[in-house]
Amino acid sequence: MNDGMTLRGGWNVEYNYAVGTTGKKFFDALIEKKIIAPKCSKCGLVMLPPRSFCERCFVPAEEWVEVGREGTIQAFTIVPVKFESLPEPPYAIAYVLLDGADTALVNFIRKVDLSDLGAAAKKLSIGKRVRVVFEKRRKGTINDFHYELIETGQARRQRSKK
Ligand SMILES: [Zn+2]
Repeated sequence: MNDGMTLRGGWNVEYNYAVGTTGKKFFDALIEKKIIAPKCSKCGLVMLPPRSFCERCFVPAEEWVEVGREGTIQAFTIVPVKFESLPEPPYAIAYVLLDGADTALVNFIRKVDLSDLGAAAKKLSIGKRVRVVFEKRRKGTINDFHYELIETGQARRQRSKK
C-alpha cells in the first residue's frame, strides 16, 4: 500500500551462524545440563554469553567454570506482538545474572501468567530470583533451557490462602 506515508516492505533472512570454538563448547555443555562460562585468567571476569577474549583485558579467556543454576533478573521485557521466527506472543524475555557469572545471559522466562501484562511486569521485577530449567531433550542450542521464577516461601503461603 502506498498512502503517501507508508510503504510495505519485507525482510526474511535465513543464515548460518558460526558459533566458533567458544560457542561450541558452551552449547555442547548445555546438552549435559551445564552452563559453563569462560573466565579471564587476568581479572577473573566470568562471561556469559561466552566470549573468547576478556572484554576488559583483551586477553584470551581459556579457563572455563560452571556457573550456578539460579540467578537474578537484571532486565526483562514482555513481548506482546508477533515477530517472525519467535513464539506466539505474549512471552517474556529476561537478562539474568547467573550465580558465579559477571555478565547476564538472555533467555525466555516461562510459567509466568501473562494474561495481565501489568501484573506480570510487577512479578518479573528486576532483582527477582530465577532458576534455570533444562528441557528434557536438548540439542545444543540456547533453547535447551529457560528461566522460571523462584517463588518465595511468602508467595507460596499467600497462594495457598486463596
Ligand atoms: Zn580480564
